[in-house]
Amino acid sequence: MKKDSILYIVIPCYNEEEVLEETTKQLKKKLEGLIKAKKLSAKSKVMYVNDGSKDRTWEIIKDIHSREPLFTGISLSRNRGHQNALLGGLMTAKNYADVVISMDADLQDDINAIDKMIEKYNNGCDIVYGVRSARKKDTFFKRVTAEGFYKFMKSLGVDCVYNHADYRLTSKRVLEEFSNYKEVNLFLRGMFPLVGFKSDVVYYERKERFAGESKYPLKKMLSFAWNGITSFSVKPLTLICTLGIIILLISIAIMIYSLIRKIMGATIDGWTFLVISIWFIGGLQMISIGIIGEYIGKIYSETKARPRYIISENLED
Ligand code: UDP
Ligand code: MG
Repeated sequence: MKKDSILYIVIPCYNEEEVLEETTKQLKKKLEGLIKAKKLSAKSKVMYVNDGSKDRTWEIIKDIHSREPLFTGISLSRNRGHQNALLGGLMTAKNYADVVISMDADLQDDINAIDKMIEKYNNGCDIVYGVRSARKKDTFFKRVTAEGFYKFMKSLGVDCVYNHADYRLTSKRVLEEFSNYKEVNLFLRGMFPLVGFKSDVVYYERKERFAGESKYPLKKMLSFAWNGITSFSVKPLTLICTLGIIILLISIAIMIYSLIRKIMGATIDGWTFLVISIWFIGGLQMISIGIIGEYIGKIYSETKARPRYIISENLED
């Protein structure tokens, strides 16, 4: 089928001077092998995205580009974070490539999965998600928080691929459609499933970072997770309303209870009035906030202006 596809591998890099040479070495071997086996066009490339690194990352990328024809790069004007850097890379690569794979600079995600991804692409898949089958090498903390997060997202109704980070193959047409998603709070791994088209997963084992430190310290991880939740789910807003109704129901129970206490003469003056007021007004306020929340939720989806539909096949063409 698509024997001569041009593949671009997009890799965001932030202060990755320690890993770039080794990553280049391994990817060169991989890419050359695939080109030789006629699975990819010889125009395929690796595209490094320098995300405003403060070390020699960009110098190294330029140097690699000058001696290796299979490697190229772009540089962002400043550090914009992993998701923005990745988007910048994907949107640039789609102008040159038929199919793009995104991955991290540290090769924690097994590059041998690329073969399987391309195979699935050749079999008609437009998106292939790399899924971590085991996280043996991750710390206990990272594993538990990450897996808990995916489950939590699911419970909020977000269609997220379990244990899939940003190691993913996307076809050109997916990226073309994706460019219509104009939101600025990016959570790419949740956005691609929205695009649709035929997709599949490829399992791989996640390795250790072979050099350098994680560029995702706990603080960044938390803010990323929070962004994922608030960019994808209005559930927290609708929960306010539910909570309000629950409190209002409790207030009725308390009303009955405190009135009985009053009739029995077991209370001091003013207690009944106060207790009923507190619960009733609390519930009422909560519901009011919830109603406002419902409208804010609507505004929020409207402002995202996500495409309402994407046509995958038109028999007229
Ligand atoms: N990264 C980036 N900009 C940032 C932070 C990270 O481009 O502000 C890149 C980083 O260079 C790497 C990828 O994002 O290629 C994932 O980062 P890392 O491997 O440190 O995350 P972890 O695997 O620890 O979750
Ligand atoms: Mg990593």
